[in-house]
Amino acid sequence: MRKICPKCDKFRKMSRHHVFPVRFYGRKHNKRMIDLCRLCHNKLEALIPFHEMPKKFYIRVVEEFLGGKDEIQRPGFKRIQVRLQNPD
Ligand SMILES: [Zn+2]
Repeated sequence: MRKICPKCDKFRKMSRHHVFPVRFYGRKHNKRMIDLCRLCHNKLEALIPFHEMPKKFYIRVVEEFLGGKDEIQRPGFKRIQVRLQNPD
């Protein structure tokens, strides 16, 4: 399905992102999802640590990502600079 990506505003094929990672929460009863283009989905996935975090962390990452902030505070991490490159 092609739609306008909520992150980059480009008309592209969508890729579904589970707000709460499937590797920790599975697919059943884990229906909080957003559609992003593949490129933006990859950028968002790159912000998510491999160890489990509190659920509110995942929500905040998505909110900050969609809000266009390029610097995200990760609890327990140094303040990091996230480079969001223009896909084109
Ligand atoms: Zn996008």
